[in-house]
Amino acid sequence: METANAVVFNCPECGHLVKEELKGQDAQALLYKEESVPKAIADTLVDSVVYCPNCGDRFKVEIDTHAHTVPLFLRKD
Ligand SMILES: [Zn+2]
Repeated sequence: METANAVVFNCPECGHLVKEELKGQDAQALLYKEESVPKAIADTLVDSVVYCPNCGDRFKVEIDTHAHTVPLFLRKD
């Protein structure tokens, strides 16, 4: 049985873990945490609406520009 890839979000209201399945992906049952989502996947999710089944609130997916970790690289000067 194939299970879709998904991103797991932490509901900011109630703390419930919300699993958002990814469409149009090879179903490999991969789970990404919200703080470490590959950019190609993040780009497909930004601005989409996620519904928390626990508290009933809806949230829009945004990129966390205040994340504690960011990718750095060395570019030739
Ligand atoms: Zn919630």
